[in-house]
Amino acid sequence: MAVSQETPIQEYDAIIIGAGMSGLYQLYRLRELGMRVHVLEAGTGVGGTWYWNRYPGARFDSESYSYSYSFSKELLDEWNWSEHFASQPETLRYIDYVADKFDLCRDIRFRSRVAAAHYDDRTRSWETTLEDGTCFRSRFLITAIGPLSAPTMPRIDGVDSFQGQSCHTARWPHEPVSFEGKRVAVIGTGATGVQTIQEVAKTAGHLMVFQRTPNWCAPLHNSKIDAETMARIKANYPQMFQRCQETFACFLHTPDPRGTFEVTPEEREAFFEKLYAEPGFGIWQGNFRDILTDPKANDAITAFVAGKIRQRVQDPAVAEKLIPKNHGFGTRRVPLETKYYEVYNQPNVQLVDIRETPIERITPAGIRTSGAEYDFDIIIYATGFDAITGSFDRIDFRGAGGVKLKDAWAHGPRTWLGVMVQGFPNMMMLMGPHTALGNIPRSIEYNVDWVTGLLRHARDHGLTRLEATEAGVESWTSHVRSLGVGLLSNEVNSWMTGVNTNVEGKQTRIIARYSGSAPAYRARCDEVAAQGYRELALA
Ligand code: NAP
Repeated sequence: MAVSQETPIQEYDAIIIGAGMSGLYQLYRLRELGMRVHVLEAGTGVGGTWYWNRYPGARFDSESYSYSYSFSKELLDEWNWSEHFASQPETLRYIDYVADKFDLCRDIRFRSRVAAAHYDDRTRSWETTLEDGTCFRSRFLITAIGPLSAPTMPRIDGVDSFQGQSCHTARWPHEPVSFEGKRVAVIGTGATGVQTIQEVAKTAGHLMVFQRTPNWCAPLHNSKIDAETMARIKANYPQMFQRCQETFACFLHTPDPRGTFEVTPEEREAFFEKLYAEPGFGIWQGNFRDILTDPKANDAITAFVAGKIRQRVQDPAVAEKLIPKNHGFGTRRVPLETKYYEVYNQPNVQLVDIRETPIERITPAGIRTSGAEYDFDIIIYATGFDAITGSFDRIDFRGAGGVKLKDAWAHGPRTWLGVMVQGFPNMMMLMGPHTALGNIPRSIEYNVDWVTGLLRHARDHGLTRLEATEAGVESWTSHVRSLGVGLLSNEVNSWMTGVNTNVEGKQTRIIARYSGSAPAYRARCDEVAAQGYRELALA
């Protein structure tokens, strides 16, 4: 990495990589500690996920108010959501509002993509280098780079040869794109593809969906929030956030205590119907307690949702193609939809099953499968992310003695509490591997507050080197692995198990996520703090 000779290294107490929801809140908290903090952000604005994912139809699929920051009562009182599940533009406006309110941008350097971060044990500090060679030195390095932020293009021949407009959903242009009368292809049918497809289908002249694996989608049931409802939501904020603290994954929904077969078939059917008719993730997160652990229970909800797809899609052959055959309901992230299945009843929409007729190449005019050649004006790649560890792999992180993080994690991530890595002193990860993800902003606030507590401890005790121990990492990593045993989602390929066919070396499943409960995670981290962080090597 060429370090610019003219520009002196800029010194800070802490460098934060990323100005998404976690980086912004960490900046706010470290300022309170009186630290000199600088945030390095690749984009031209704040927002992270909500800055990059501006594809058509992008919106929250958790209740917006449960996904906002909770740390400032004033902010909660001031902000009004217009819909229960807000669109991306509204969500980005919210994050911009937060950044303005707390005057955060003055400590953020935009258009600054980090290429490398190397630890120097002589100075007990990190040297972080941008792609343009600009270099920063800081005692502490905090990664706020997101679990779903490294987009992946498909490995298909000819991707660069297409003469029309093409774009990955997570790199969508800032200018509006019109689909009116256009021939549009969408590759990918995950949560992003589903939102994109149902929006593009409204105006496209002809939309072709290239589906490799169908997913089990469920209705979002979004609606507007009027002034009276917003006032009620605000009055209920303390109780709502308290509930999020108590549920398994910090969502408003939490598993029903009953087992699937502890009720009569009629009660079971009625419960599934009720959940299918309700907004949000209830059908996934608030279902019978055993649907994600007992294969027979999972079969029951799977059969129910398959029946719904058959009812909603007019052509039985198309319906069968939309019904997943290789995984049960909820074992991959459930995309929430608004009339997604009905899209396939429209005359301007066609589904191509690329397991039957694989894509052979992208041509200058469009897409060639083993069955036919299609011409397009626009190709949309909704092909997902190199998840959880991908954003780490894209930066050259080196710890003490020059050890590469990528090598240290060659067989899957190894962390202490999902926050620190042995051999990488003074580096803390927000929403890194092995943390409780769930309702992400709730997890972010806890994660950031915990890291802030650790740095306060370091300041108060004059500590300049904080490092996870090998024993601590081994113990946490094996704990996380043991929590994954028996979970049906860990027996399925998806971003949640670290599988990405578009990335070299990521074809085998790993345990990258902490799958215990958020309250248990917090209890463990609180215990560490209460005992003076003595599980760390402190100096
Ligand atoms: P994803 O779930 O990984 O889906 C990627 C899609 O692209 C899959 O259908 C995949 O097929 C397909 N694909 C990948 N490579 C391909 C190739 N070479 N050829 C053909 N098809 C290919 O990614 P995502 O939809 O972007 O969603 C990722 C996560 O982001 C979600 O699960 C969710 O957690 C989050 N998200 C949240 C929201 C929200 O809250 N509003 C919205 C969107 C996304 P296979 O399944 O066969 O690999």
